[in-house]
Amino acid sequence: MPDSTQSPLAQLTLTQVRQQLADKSLSASEVTEAVLARIAATEPRVQALLSVQAEEARARASALDASGPDAGKPLWGVPLVVKDVLATKGVPTTCASKILENFRPVFDATAVARLKDAGAILLGKANMDEFAMGSTTENSAYFPTKNPWDLSRVPGGSSGGSAATVAACQCFGALGTDTGGSIRLPASFCGIVGLKPTYGRVSRFGMVAYGSSLDQIGPMTRTVEDAARLLQVIAGHDERDSTCINAPVPDYVAALAQRTDLKGLTIGLPAQYWDKGLAPEVAEACGLAVKQAEALGAKTVPVDLKLSEYAVATYYIIAVAEASSNLARFDGVRYGLRDKSAQSLLEMYVKSRTRGFGEEVQRRIILGTYVLSSGYYDAYYRKAAQVRRLIRQDFEAALKNCDLIMGPVCPTTAFKVGEMSDDPLQMYLMDIFTISANLAGLPGLSLPVGLGHEYGLPVGLQLTGRALDETLLLQVAHVLEQHVAPTGLPSL
Ligand code: GLN
Repeated sequence: MPDSTQSPLAQLTLTQVRQQLADKSLSASEVTEAVLARIAATEPRVQALLSVQAEEARARASALDASGPDAGKPLWGVPLVVKDVLATKGVPTTCASKILENFRPVFDATAVARLKDAGAILLGKANMDEFAMGSTTENSAYFPTKNPWDLSRVPGGSSGGSAATVAACQCFGALGTDTGGSIRLPASFCGIVGLKPTYGRVSRFGMVAYGSSLDQIGPMTRTVEDAARLLQVIAGHDERDSTCINAPVPDYVAALAQRTDLKGLTIGLPAQYWDKGLAPEVAEACGLAVKQAEALGAKTVPVDLKLSEYAVATYYIIAVAEASSNLARFDGVRYGLRDKSAQSLLEMYVKSRTRGFGEEVQRRIILGTYVLSSGYYDAYYRKAAQVRRLIRQDFEAALKNCDLIMGPVCPTTAFKVGEMSDDPLQMYLMDIFTISANLAGLPGLSLPVGLGHEYGLPVGLQLTGRALDETLLLQVAHVLEQHVAPTGLPSL
């Protein structure tokens, strides 16, 4: 019997599969069956998905096949997965929390609706840290996802399910969300491309809010071109999200062909990102990628992000403050779980929330309530908001002297399941290089730059750019992708 776990069809890139669907060398049903077989073969080990909509996907594929390829639909017949924090009509949307166990929204998030309008097939919902709070996907209330490169390791988080499902070739791309690094970190740990767009580039309508001033939805794919194709579809103004920027969406895919080297570009290297306790294999792989960028014509300059050391503290005040307010809506009345044993309204709130929220979510609600309370607001929240503005100014100043900034995504490669789960502060430090982009609202991309020499695990390089300049990040990543050490796919 052919080994369906190594299905060459499932290993195609999104760009390749959409081409073969368009020219009818593959049907949507064939493609859908290939990824469903791959899910059946690998999911018991990887556990990337909270739910799989196999029958709905099959029905949609046959309907698409019956009407035939549509050149106006850029994702026609392409099976994709979305993180379970995005509302999907009639399909469970749990945020990996018990409190939303049976929640099925009556509408689609704008990003999901745009994927569907573009002809994509929704295959399933990806596991995540509960309400996107975490860096490993171990905070899921259901089960932890495993890293497809080494099943004893974490895939990163909070979009760990999205990263693992893409790396395991269970789909051709996924959507994740990033509040402080949750697209870029798991992309880096799983050896795929992850792009956090500029704040406001993609509508957050229908994304269950964590830190509303930080959250962004973005693509997670096996190649840079695939990421450009997904961003193309989901980006752009949406009147249902007042923070969504009303600016034209460039042709990201066409722009990729316009650059074949990095001549004329200046890359900023912040000392703060390169000096600080990097694992030697991360320093080496990212350092080689920068050398490659120089060989391709880029000039590198030092830049000073002097407030970086305050980024983690600032983020963990602002994010938890916003979370405590956003999560107040889960009260046992309007959505999901309700404790029926309670004798009074207050008791019902308390019991429903105590049973429904996991430990990390409760910790953050308590922290957030504290930093917003009247006696402490000025000392914590107001101060953090001020430092946030200074961090943004730091980046704006740095990006006057360079076109983009490069550094590692994370100080280490993927660590063992359970290694840090008892130490929340240690875990928060994993976000040290990613959270500034969210505080500043800037786009950030994680590009795989080969396997580390120590554990043979993927290493991610981070590219941070000017607001709304996703085009340059994608172009540079696309050029580099063809010259850095190949990462390949995990053998599962
Ligand atoms: N790890 C960070 C946190 O726990 C970032 C999470 C995210 O980006 N959603 O808040």
